[in-house]
Amino acid sequence: MGMKLFFGATLGALLLSGCYKEQPHLADRTIIDLTYPFDSTTIYWPTEKGFRFEKGFEGITPNGFFYSANTFSAPEHGGTHLDAPIHFAEGKNTADEIPIERFVGIGVVVDVSEKCAADRDYQVLIEDFVEWERQHGELPNNCIVLLRTGFGKYWPDRVQYMGTAERGPEAVAKQRFPGLHAETAKWLVSSRPIKAIGIDTPSIDYGKSVYFESHVALFTANIPAFENVANLDQLPEAGFSVIALPMKIKGGSGGPLRIIAKPDFRPQLPLPAVALNYLGVYQSGTDAWQALPIAPGRPSAADNPSAELISLHGGVFDGRLTLRQIGCLRAELNDQLLALLQDNLLELAEQTEDCHACA
Ligand SMILES: [Zn+2]
Repeated sequence: MGMKLFFGATLGALLLSGCYKEQPHLADRTIIDLTYPFDSTTIYWPTEKGFRFEKGFEGITPNGFFYSANTFSAPEHGGTHLDAPIHFAEGKNTADEIPIERFVGIGVVVDVSEKCAADRDYQVLIEDFVEWERQHGELPNNCIVLLRTGFGKYWPDRVQYMGTAERGPEAVAKQRFPGLHAETAKWLVSSRPIKAIGIDTPSIDYGKSVYFESHVALFTANIPAFENVANLDQLPEAGFSVIALPMKIKGGSGGPLRIIAKPDFRPQLPLPAVALNYLGVYQSGTDAWQALPIAPGRPSAADNPSAELISLHGGVFDGRLTLRQIGCLRAELNDQLLALLQDNLLELAEQTEDCHACA
């Protein structure tokens, strides 16, 4: 057995990290606000009046304390907002009925900004997802998909962002912005279990849409959408979580949304600082990385919620980089870990001399 290097036990991750080039990811504890502020410039559908803010009392009260309170009113759909399934699917979830679990999950960014820069009527294709999966592995189960068209940079310029600054029913047909292709929406519904989907344009269907087929396909499957999502340019394509909490309007078809992203990685670790409830052996040297099953039950951290990466033994054996006995608590992060391994460990194998140095 031609073993070139071996590192074991819990320090494996640290040793690995020393061998990595710096990966683009969010800084530790950085929370990205994916929400636009609501004010008179906030973009609403051309037929809507927009956000209304009525200044109330502000100042020192007769009793000597400062006090401020205002009144607002707004259509459900505008600014950064939720589309509840009932918006386009009769009998499906209203805003208050959507299970709260749908609003929290692993986030992924599918970046189509180059294509949208070349074609503002672009519709996100299945092949865009296939390309994401080629780079990162299959879409994590129950993830929240964010489509990055790049149109966020135009906010709040209505002409640039939505194709027209006109208002009223006639303006609707003049809208021009990218969206999700209906065939892609149907593909997601049938073959990729996602919690929700968001986009940095006014609508999940593109601006020229007449039948809103992506809305219909998603909402019929009770998958909500987030629209006018901000700051997607600040996110990596993987490696973060999303929390998206809309106003809980009883019977609502949507509503204002506060959506944030937070990183899953510590800056010094290229591997997720979590514990996987997964055991397996990964080997390079084949076309695809594969999890080779080993006996379950070791190491287990099921009773240790504070455990992070528990065990990592790796080395280059007979020209194949092998990593085994990864124990983690959070099964939903397995896919992310696999994607990281796929992306990075082959590179690590080429740096074995450096690894000797950092060991
Ligand atoms: Zn909407």
